[in-house]
Amino acid sequence: MTEPLVLNGKNLAKEIESTLQARVLAYRNTHGGRVPLLATILVGEDPASAMYVKMKGNACARVGIDSRRIALPASTTTEELLATINNLNGDPEVYGILLQHPVPDQIDERSAFDAIDLEKDVDGVTCLGFGRMAMGERAYGSATPAGIMKLLDHYDIELAGKRAVVVGRSPILGKPMAFMLLNRHATVTICHSRTKDLPSIIAEADIVVGAVGKPKFIQGAWIKEGAVVVDAGYHPGGVGDIDLETAIPRCSAYTPVPGGVGPMTIATLIMQTMESAELRG
Ligand code: NAP
Repeated sequence: MTEPLVLNGKNLAKEIESTLQARVLAYRNTHGGRVPLLATILVGEDPASAMYVKMKGNACARVGIDSRRIALPASTTTEELLATINNLNGDPEVYGILLQHPVPDQIDERSAFDAIDLEKDVDGVTCLGFGRMAMGERAYGSATPAGIMKLLDHYDIELAGKRAVVVGRSPILGKPMAFMLLNRHATVTICHSRTKDLPSIIAEADIVVGAVGKPKFIQGAWIKEGAVVVDAGYHPGGVGDIDLETAIPRCSAYTPVPGGVGPMTIATLIMQTMESAELRG
């Protein structure tokens, strides 16, 4: 079999960043020196979450977008977080709001996500945005699945008529991923922790998306020869949700870990912040 195609998210994210640099410059020139601003909210001190927020701030800096980092203590209540989000909703300097998932257990994360104004929901986390996206209406897609779609499109991966299996049904990843693929005419199956005989379902897939949150959970032997493999997982040690070592010899294309889905998530968030600024005018 020929070598599988590497769906290189790191390279595509770099390309996206350079087009964004030009867009930020053009925006600045026509808006009296003003640049878009992304507000990031981190609640608590989870080191992985802190690192993700830092990476998103760094990506903003690389393209010339401002970021305002709001760090709230782990003891923050839902009401306090809602008040912070409402302030950002009303702040004309803010074009996008990112609330880093997950928040501490005492917080009602769904209420907090849904408090974000639709036009500032550049990470695509609100129910309203999800519903609009699912119905094919204009909305910012959840950043990770939207980034995966950009990556699949960049490499001309055919979706229409294909069997796609999404393993995971989380609100920010599995569910929106499934609707994005469905909207592009794939025939989609969503699997989850109560799915019976997962290997036999995966065996039918032309496109497999791993969004399980368990390192190397999906085995290469379950994957159909020639399938496209998308690994959304990321775990310490640089492994994903798919056992890529055994999957690569069977697949036609795959996202590496690291350097596949992760950089595309960040590039999509920044791109959607830019779009929010351009839409507001
Ligand atoms: P999550 O909220 O924990 O959801 C995991 C999903 O996997 C759930 O729907 C769960 O089913 C399902 N699942 C668990 N065990 C299963 C099993 N044995 N068989 C089939 N399905 C099973 O995780 P998430 O936030 O969607 O994240 C998933 C992965 O993506 C993680 O590795 C995370 O690190 C990664 N991620 C990466 C990025 C990025 O930018 N690269 C962004 C977000 C997440 P139930 O619903 O039945 O519990």
